[in-house]
Amino acid sequence: MKILIINAGSSSLKYQLMDMDTETLIAKGICERIGTGEVGMLKHTPKNGKPEYMLDAVIADHDQAIGLVLGALVSPDHGVVSSLSEVGAVGHRVLNGGPKFETSVLINSDVIKSIEEFIPLGPLHNPANLKGIEACQKAMPGTPQVATFDTSFHQTMPDYAYIYAIPYEYYEKYNIRRYGFHGTSHRYVSEEAVRLLGGRAAGTKIITCHCGNGSSIAALRDGRCVDTSMGLTPLEGVPMGTRSGSIDPAIAEFLANSEGLTRKETYDILNKKSGVLGVSGVSSDFRSIEAAAADAAHPLQRRAQLALDIFYYDVAKYVAAYAGILGGADAIVFTAGLGENSPELREAVIGKLSAAFGVYVDPQKNFTRGTVDITGDASKTKVFVIPTNEELVIARDTKEIVEKL
Ligand code: AMP
Repeated sequence: MKILIINAGSSSLKYQLMDMDTETLIAKGICERIGTGEVGMLKHTPKNGKPEYMLDAVIADHDQAIGLVLGALVSPDHGVVSSLSEVGAVGHRVLNGGPKFETSVLINSDVIKSIEEFIPLGPLHNPANLKGIEACQKAMPGTPQVATFDTSFHQTMPDYAYIYAIPYEYYEKYNIRRYGFHGTSHRYVSEEAVRLLGGRAAGTKIITCHCGNGSSIAALRDGRCVDTSMGLTPLEGVPMGTRSGSIDPAIAEFLANSEGLTRKETYDILNKKSGVLGVSGVSSDFRSIEAAAADAAHPLQRRAQLALDIFYYDVAKYVAAYAGILGGADAIVFTAGLGENSPELREAVIGKLSAAFGVYVDPQKNFTRGTVDITGDASKTKVFVIPTNEELVIARDTKEIVEKL
């Protein structure tokens, strides 16, 4: 079965077409600047030897973007299928499934209503995800569609981990609680880690560190999430590219008063101008920050190093806290752009935990790429690098649901 995976953002739409009989990628691509009025683009990369296709065009809305994507998939020049009837199902990434969705689901009108209902919990993403779903429904009526939620994997957290210590009525009235995000990534890498540990989830204690532009840490017992660092929104937890992560909530009011900012302006500063960008003043991109920190002549060298130090320290703090509540850890897993590619991050984080937890990385293996066990000789806990594959999780769930229809 061929499955189209759609990740629709407010102005972008990423896609992959996968052959799920072999779990191989057939084509992937991205549409950018949708609905902005600017000239946008489609970049389509077939994996069947045909050339990459780039198109610059004003893309009015998600309907048009989906039209371009589907056109590229069937094009005689750069297409990968002869007809859309070859696409057996579509799997959509959806940010927030609220407290309702513990697993991926077949999309029907009730599911759409629930995704709409949870817009206040994902005001930027849920409306965009819905646009992607509606565009596919129009373009491919009759093709089953499945929603996979970033929040589902974290639904196994106990109430004391997801309830905030604010008046309980706000949880009851507005569903204000910890949801956690990157759930498909934590799920994928933890399942791979279980495999590397011998295949049985029961009895395992695993900590997964998704470190990329957005970062979150999760604690898993028996393969199920028991805590995670992101909260009601992705703003909580460790600092990120542009997000502050957890700070004293009083800072928001202090800043608003001192700078004469509106609530929205203050929120934007914490979401878009903080994190390693805010501290370093260099970039939100960790590669640029690492380069600046390593360049003694860079005018922002000290701040770049400080941004990295804060990030490494906070990741280590979460991992230590989770190792504490789990009663140790069988494995610590690093994934996502930085987690997969930065030996410096892994060495710094694990180095801070060595004395307390007897965990070490092997200095040579730490520089290996791909799925790799980088555990040091004397280590009591395994340290794995596992490239994440959120699309594969969505495609597997979609296949499983559609096969039962
Ligand atoms: P993601 O959000 O998972 O795509 O991760 C993006 C982040 O990973 C960016 O900040 C990148 O700078 C960072 N990243 C990607 N490759 C590397 C690398 N080789 N070394 C350090 N950081 C990297």
